[in-house]
This record gives sequence, C-alpha cells and structure tokens, in this order.
Amino acid sequence: MDNTVNWFEKRCRLNPSHIAVVDGQTGERWTYRDMDRRFLSIAAYLQSQGVEKGDRVALLSPNDVCYFDMLFACAKLGAIFVPLNWRLAAPELDYIIHNCDPKVIAVHPDLDEINGNVLTKVQESHFKLMKAAGKEYDDIIRMTAAPTSNPALKMDDPLSIIYTGGTTGKPKGVVLSHASMFWNAINTVVSWNLTSRDITPTYMPMFHTGGLNALSLPILQIGGTVIVCKSFRPETFVEIVRRERCTLVLLVPTMYHMLTQSEVFAEASFPTMHTFLSGGAPCPHTIYEAFASKGLAFKEGYGMTEAGPNNFFIDPSEAAKHVGSVGMPMMLNDIKIVNNHGETAVVGEVGEILLKGGHLFHSYWNLPKETEEAFSDRWFHTGDLGRRDDEGFFYIMGRKKDMIITGGENVYPLEVEHLLQQHPYIEEAAVVGIPDEKWGEQVIAVLVLKSGAHLDEETLKQYCAASIGKYKIPKRFVFAEELPKTAVGKIDKIRIIHDHSYGKI
Ligand code: ATP
Ligand code: MG
Repeated sequence: MDNTVNWFEKRCRLNPSHIAVVDGQTGERWTYRDMDRRFLSIAAYLQSQGVEKGDRVALLSPNDVCYFDMLFACAKLGAIFVPLNWRLAAPELDYIIHNCDPKVIAVHPDLDEINGNVLTKVQESHFKLMKAAGKEYDDIIRMTAAPTSNPALKMDDPLSIIYTGGTTGKPKGVVLSHASMFWNAINTVVSWNLTSRDITPTYMPMFHTGGLNALSLPILQIGGTVIVCKSFRPETFVEIVRRERCTLVLLVPTMYHMLTQSEVFAEASFPTMHTFLSGGAPCPHTIYEAFASKGLAFKEGYGMTEAGPNNFFIDPSEAAKHVGSVGMPMMLNDIKIVNNHGETAVVGEVGEILLKGGHLFHSYWNLPKETEEAFSDRWFHTGDLGRRDDEGFFYIMGRKKDMIITGGENVYPLEVEHLLQQHPYIEEAAVVGIPDEKWGEQVIAVLVLKSGAHLDEETLKQYCAASIGKYKIPKRFVFAEELPKTAVGKIDKIRIIHDHSYGKI
C-alpha cells in the first residue's frame, strides 16, 4: 500500500493535460501536469528552507491554489501540512501556531487587507515566513526545481494536521495520515460515483476539512476539476456554475440560506449540476423545500475533521423521500449507533454514532489522553447522536453535549430547531438547555425573526404543541438580533449559554 503515497503524481501520469484547478476569480487554469510541477518547485523551496520529514508547514490563506501547492509539496517531503483558520482572533491563532510549532508559515498577501491583526501576530513570532502568492512565489514556481532527496514514506506517516471547528472547546489538531486522506478520497469517489467529468467550485474554507478533504481532494484523485472560489455570494456562485459548467457542490447551510433567499436563485436553472450537497452543520428543512420546488437534487452529508470527513451517501431520489436523512454508510467505512448501555441501538432509538474505517484520523496532535479516549476497539466515538429508520436510513440528531435532560426526559435540540426553522417568520433558531432547580435543565429557544416579523411566546408555544411533545416545547423564547457564530460559521451554543448579551437567558 505504501506505493499510493503521492498519488497525485500517478494521477498526473494518467491525464496530464486535463484541467485540475481553476482560479474562480481570475479564471487562470492549471492542468494536472502544471500542478505537479508547482508541487515539485514548492517542495524544493521548502527543502531549501530546512523542511524535513515530520516538520510542520503552516499556511494562512484565503481559498487559493496555494493550498494544493503546500499540501502536495509536503506530501513529497514527508512534511506535515497545517492549514490555519485566518478568521481566528490573534490569541486563538497564537494558541494553534504554538501548538503545532511549524518550521515555516506561508502567508497569502491578501491577508494584509483581510486580517491585519493575524498577520502582525505571525510576523512577531520567530517562525520562518514565506509568501504564498505574488511575485516571489511565482519566481519559486518558475524555477521548476525538484527536491534533492525524497524520504521513504509510509501510508501511516502524518500528512496533515487540520484543526477542528472549536465548537465545543479549544480546536484540536487532527492528525491525518497519508492513509486517512487517501481512503477518504477513494471512499468518496466510489461511494458518491464521482468521475473525471466532475467539476466543483470550492467555497467552503480550505483550512477546514469541508473545503479541502470533503470534495476537492476526491475530485482531484479521480481526475476532475476544482474551481477555487473565495467568499460566497449568490450572484457570483450562479455565474461560476454557469461559466465553468460545474456538476456538484458542497456548501454549508448558511450559504444555502443566502442562495435560496436571493433573486438569482429564483431565476437560475443549473442545467449542468447533478448534486447540491450540504454539510458541516444541521440543514434547515426549508432549504430542501426550496431545491425540491425547482426540481433540483439536494442532499445532506455528515462529516467531521476526525473522519477525514465523509461517512454517508444518499441518492438524491432517496433524499427527497427521506428528508433530513444522511443516508447509508459509504462503501469503505462502517457505522453503528450505540445506546447508553453500549448496545447497538434498535430502529428509532437515539444513540452515539461510532465510526470505523481507513479514513479515520491518526491521533490528536499532542493530546494522547484525548486520542485514547476517542477510540474503543478501533471504533471512533464521534460525540454526535443519530438514529436509523426502519429502512436503515440514518438521521443525525445533534451533539451529545447539546442534549438537554429536563424532568428526566431527553430533548434533542436539533429536532426542536428544525421545527422552529420551518416557521415562516423565523430566520434562525438555536435551542439550548440551562440549569433549572426543579427540572434539572430547562429548554430555551433563542430566535432571530425575519425582518419586520413579530411573534409572541404564546403563539410559538401553540405552534410547537402541534408537532412535538410538551416536555420538548421551549419554556422560554428569547429574541435576538443575531446568533453568535464560531469562526467557521456554526452557531456558537457555548456563547449563547454563557454570554448574556445575546438575549436575557
Ligand atoms: P470541535 O470538535 O472543536 O468542537 P466541530 O466538531 O464543530 O468542533 P468539525 O470537525 O469541523 O468541528 O465539525 C464536525 C461536526 O459538525 C460533527 O461532529 C457534527 O457535530 C457537526 N455536523 C456535521 N455535519 C452535520 C450534519 N449534517 N448535521 C448535523 N451536524 C453536523
Ligand atoms: Mg468535533
């Protein structure tokens, strides 16, 4: 198996002149051969900077072709690629940089304008800096050099550290080996029926597993085309899909929300697209409806950094019948749901989702205790809850940590949030539990209403009572201007509970 390290070189041999990557903004295009040359030149440069096997090479950049340059250059040297979230505040970034201790930090010049604070922080540090675009970078690429030596590599060697979203605490560095990334890519290709004719625009941040591993690398493994796109705007998205003849896309629910609310969506027909895929966070059912009303294939995936990230597949025709389901386990991984007694859950019973397969991560960087606790008998405990229906379709029920126990009954916030999001006056909803002397925990909903809309507690309680059991109905509804989000755009429940400025909880 160790001969599949550096699979990109082999892919390049098979279809060298096919377009691998396009810059969505400038329209610049690179073939597989062009890309492989770039990787060699960058690898040679990194080697000249003293980067050796096992060293970390960090990157701070908006979505850009340089993500692929750095990843595959590291793959050639046996170095470990660490994409960093440039949207973090300086102290958060400082924590991560010191945690992974890179030999080189590559910084995209656009960050000067986007996040000057972060740049200052990096410049103050003692790490070696490299520009990840611009003239100097182009000069490195034009040198068409190659590393002077190539270390022997094994599939189990670490290839990347990707930090988790930090939704439940400090981000953890997830070490993905060559094997994890290879198996995620191949599993995705075979299970999702990807082909070399697939073309995807990548809008999810590439420092995150969603932007890099979920679709971009599988598409490159099968010889397709990735259009690297920066910030999401419905107008440019529709234009890029049309111009580049895109066939599938993975976006987060927030982007789908923007898209389905836009005027361009109402007029667009997307004739080249076969799949719209949502991932990274729970997707409101209203988005399914918006796509169904246009006859477009929409479905939801479930992933996490530790799983490389993909786990499920659902055919769009099944997705329309099983709204909210993420489908069945993919071909090369196993999934089970385990109840509180450690037994496999029966149909309909909610339990923790456990994963097994070659796509799983190697370890948490410098966190041996957390790594050990995450696995039992090679099954990874995701900390997420799920259930299966009588046809075997899986549904995600939210995070174990978010589950509310009120008066001895379990309330899954996601179920209540889905219901609230379907109300025509509600823009966004978060359901959380807060301590309560009598009930143990109390269910509270924090709502953002659509502009100009008004709702009172009584109306909302009646609306909920028509669909869910009494103990699940929020005891209080708090109205807020907006919901706090994490740096990757997920609802930040820790801040909702602890930071009272988001409504008087
Ligand atoms: P941290 O682990 O630092 O708390 P995080 O879990 O948000 O952050 P990621 O690995 O980026 O970091 O996100 C994976 C998580 O996102 C999953 O474990 C799950 O809780 C959530 N998630 C992903 N897809 C879905 C989905 N379709 N529905 C509901 N939740 C989802
Ligand atoms: Mg997590």
